Amino acid sequence: MSRRPISGPASRRTERVRVVTTAQTQELDVQPSPLALLLLGREADPRSERGVDCPGDLPSPSDPDLVERARAAKEKLGDKVFVLGHHYQRDEVIQFADVTGDSFKLARDAAARPEAEYIVFCGVHFMAESADILTGDDQKVVLPDLAAGCSMADMATAEQVAECWDVLTEAGIAEQVVPVSYMNSSADIKAFTGKHGGTICTSSNAKRALDWAFEQGEKVLFLPDQHLGRNTAVRDMGLSLDDCVLYNPHKPGGGLTVEQLRNAEMILWRGHCSVHGRFSLQSVNDVRERIPGVNVLVHPECRHEVVAAADYVGSTEYIIKALEAAPAGSKWAIGTELNLVRRLANRFAPEGKEIVFLDRTVCFCSTMNRIDLPHLVWALESLAEGNLVNRIEVDKETEAFAKLALERMLALP
Ligand code: SF4
Repeated sequence: MSRRPISGPASRRTERVRVVTTAQTQELDVQPSPLALLLLGREADPRSERGVDCPGDLPSPSDPDLVERARAAKEKLGDKVFVLGHHYQRDEVIQFADVTGDSFKLARDAAARPEAEYIVFCGVHFMAESADILTGDDQKVVLPDLAAGCSMADMATAEQVAECWDVLTEAGIAEQVVPVSYMNSSADIKAFTGKHGGTICTSSNAKRALDWAFEQGEKVLFLPDQHLGRNTAVRDMGLSLDDCVLYNPHKPGGGLTVEQLRNAEMILWRGHCSVHGRFSLQSVNDVRERIPGVNVLVHPECRHEVVAAADYVGSTEYIIKALEAAPAGSKWAIGTELNLVRRLANRFAPEGKEIVFLDRTVCFCSTMNRIDLPHLVWALESLAEGNLVNRIEVDKETEAFAKLALERMLALP
């Protein structure tokens, strides 16, 4: 394997910026604190999450029949239901997924199952929106807990991005700018991207998307993950850090001068993933000291200094493939979401591969973890009784422009 490849990857949102609480101090094999998850988005701050409680009676988490109830409801629904499980979901949920994968793969898997009337998306809100955009009109996408949002997606609202475009227009550069939006963005942002001649990208094809965008224009506005944008521009495109500027939507003019905007090639939106943004250079140095000979493998949503210090960088699919191909006896420290790392550690332990979480302080994606077995049981049983609950539906105009941006991605060379 060559060193340092970067590869393979409620209602409409207008809420204010939200930051997910990530402070979790459990060791790798310990479950997340239900209390922390309960506080997050459950009436503690109704504006801080997508924020509606499920309109029904959730089964108790201690109900010993939950597994059997989920199995029975799924069996009753048969081919009418297709359950998608994102890699970062809990084991208790993943066991009921018909397919697992990253957000884009799952949306495509759903589109390839037109006979499924209900798509139950065990992931977060923007993923369910993407599935609704890519599936047929008669397919209904259900998110088992409407409070499962994504803090990164929330860091770029439609209003903020429209304001940014005004700033670029006033600076006289909007016509040179091509927007490239990460899959981890709301349908509104995908639609903005489609409307302004841009494309969507995943962590697998970000370089190809940037190559394409620089053929269409002279500058890129990269939304909403500054780290993926910066890492791809600098590692893969040969741009320098000075070619990139950071647009802060909370400051007038993005906190940038007209000259800075005119000189920049990459205008990075000031957004980040609350989970991957936690890893630090110190985490890398510590693990190298703790485990001599360890291979450090991180996701490109990590900060630039972490990615620069890592041995390998790539999407969740890339991480899985790298570990599949790793020789017995090799040691790995992985910088991505904990549910996936723990699952991979268990899967590859019998093959003699030692896999640890990159940081000593472990951290789940809190909003991904909101989808638990009680919510899944509730959603499946409701559907089996003929009650459509927690449907995620993107309006037609937004869908049309968002689809345009997604189709440009699919057409990337
Ligand atoms: S891991 Fe990060 S990008 Fe993914 S859903 Fe959680 S907060 Fe969003």
